[in-house]
Amino acid sequence: MLVSFAPDSRKQKLVDKIVRKTKYMKREVTSRNSYLGQRAIVVGAGLGGLSAARVLSDYFDEVMILDRDELPDDAARRPGVPQGKQPHGLLGAGLKALEDLFPGFGNELTRAGAVSIDAGCDMLYEVPGQDVWPRMKINWPTYSMSRPLIERTLRRQVERRGNIKVRSGCRVFNIVSEPNVHAATGIQCQTVDGRLETLKSDLIVDASGNGSLTLEFLKATGRRPPEETSIGVNIRYASALFERSHIRNDYKVVFTFPDAPEQGRGGLILPAENNSMHVGLAGRGKAFPPIDSNEFLSYARQLPTLTIYNAIKNAKRLTDRLNFQSALGRLASRDVEIYELLVEIRHVLKPLNLLDDPSIVTRVKEEIANASPGNESLGVYST
Ligand SMILES: Cc1cc2nc3c(=O)[nH]c(=O)nc-3n(C[C@H](O)[C@H](O)[C@H](O)COP(=O)(O)OP(=O)(O)OC[C@H]3O[C@@H](n4cnc5c(N)ncnc54)[C@H](O)[C@@H]3O)c2cc1C
Repeated sequence: MLVSFAPDSRKQKLVDKIVRKTKYMKREVTSRNSYLGQRAIVVGAGLGGLSAARVLSDYFDEVMILDRDELPDDAARRPGVPQGKQPHGLLGAGLKALEDLFPGFGNELTRAGAVSIDAGCDMLYEVPGQDVWPRMKINWPTYSMSRPLIERTLRRQVERRGNIKVRSGCRVFNIVSEPNVHAATGIQCQTVDGRLETLKSDLIVDASGNGSLTLEFLKATGRRPPEETSIGVNIRYASALFERSHIRNDYKVVFTFPDAPEQGRGGLILPAENNSMHVGLAGRGKAFPPIDSNEFLSYARQLPTLTIYNAIKNAKRLTDRLNFQSALGRLASRDVEIYELLVEIRHVLKPLNLLDDPSIVTRVKEEIANASPGNESLGVYST
């Protein structure tokens, strides 16, 4: 699920908790269910930040979203969200949560070219040792599209709300507090024309993705950061965009799972707008997905089934470069942290976009070169 929201009673608890923590607020809270303050600042215009801003717009006079990227008008990839290049799935519950916040969200996605998916009959799950699941319409549709399209659609919805302002090209450096007050009272940022600015705020939501602003603020105000646990995810994936082609038995989505734990190679196909499809090939442990685009097809051929290979072998590839990414496990103790006047929403997985860092690409290549030939667990490079 792309975004999950608490049911209403939990949402109310969250609001109550924020109200309790707003003891430093200068303005008096008049009606605690409808008014929390004059201005809320949200750092980050990703899915978390846009959704948080929509919720806060019911409780604050003004909500300001600040993002360091120049936010594009169209559904384009951008540097602040490197994982946006990779296939993303939006499950039914995520869609419903977003529809609740942004009525008409699904229709707007369809008009922009998202592909409607019925999870009961359009998705093929290939799990070693299991029969293919019977197909039946479950009439709980969701959509498949690129991650930038989801974000652009949400951004447009947010921009239509009169009391939300989005400032792009505005990098936040610090969350600040006033002397002798632990509570966050504003942020320092650099505007698109290079000016440094301090903005005051009654509430700050740190949705910058990796939580480093909040950690720095906690350190600066002498508090302990939340506990973190590392988990060994150790998955890498390479993806490319193809012109949409026929998938066996007219499925629209494919997930091919490895025969774990012995095997580590899997793949997926997700259709996207503009008659395209996103194809991702994954490798866990010592199975390296291809980083050279010429090896994409041969890796696909060695998946547990030929479904993905057959769908792409004659399809036109729309992107020359592969998007290669690695996921490292880093799990915060909770995914929403609330401090005085500061709420932090963060990623649970820390992504590394390898092709954006040449030194890491070199390291991966060295790892592959050092791997002993003939070692089956090393995937396509060993054969
Ligand atoms: C390869 C990959 C595939 C994934 N697939 C799925 C999937 O299929 N389904 C799913 O549910 N989840 C998926 N995820 C997880 C999902 O992408 C993240 O959970 C989600 O992006 C988190 O959203 P966010 O808004 O919290 O952070 P982000 O999307 O990272 O947004 C953070 C924003 O903050 C901005 N920012 C950062 N620092 C600053 C600053 N100092 N000042 C101002 N702005 C700043 C950035 O520019 C960015 O816009 C995937 C993740 C990866 C890596």
